[in-house]
Amino acid sequence: MVIEIETETADQTREVGVALATLLQPRDTVVLTGDLGAGKTTLVQGIGRGLGVRDDVASPTFTLVREYAGRLDVAHVDVYRLQRVQDVVDLALDELGGPERVLLIEWGDAVQDLLPEDRLRVELTTPRLDSESRRILISPQGRSWAARWERLDGALKPFRAIDGSERAEGAAR
Ligand code: ADP
Ligand code: MG
Repeated sequence: MVIEIETETADQTREVGVALATLLQPRDTVVLTGDLGAGKTTLVQGIGRGLGVRDDVASPTFTLVREYAGRLDVAHVDVYRLQRVQDVVDLALDELGGPERVLLIEWGDAVQDLLPEDRLRVELTTPRLDSESRRILISPQGRSWAARWERLDGALKPFRAIDGSERAEGAAR
């Protein structure tokens, strides 16, 4: 099961985050992967907005973790530098932010073994270097997401990737 979507602007990626946030529950873990500049933090900003976080969501690159209060509390972690894996262990991931929080973790692949088995994986890539478009692949892991999958699929339908030919046809019309 994979949901594949595509956005054309950073704001659209934030809207994807808002839509995704409608499905989030306490104790969820969302793992965000993708190169530097792919849009992981941008997507987290949308999730934060969707969860009613009022503070500006900024990259936690130099702080390791930032916490926000919203409809659900958010712990936003970035383990960009690999030596931080031990820092993350020390933070005891499953304690972060308390039981009602959702955990949004950038570069989470680096700490896979430490994460709850039940999680959502979001991979961002830049398919065309000459544009601002981003491809976003969302895949579930664990039962709790299987139960929500259709609803998530529905919430993200507006952002469905259309393939190149459709795009070209649309442009020709
Ligand atoms: P990461 O956290 O993956 O390193 P950021 O979200 O911090 O990436 O940065 C992504 C950058 O790319 C931002 O400057 C953002 O404005 C820009 N951008 C341009 N187009 C998009 C898009 N479609 N989705 C997300 N970000 C985009
Ligand atoms: Mg980032």
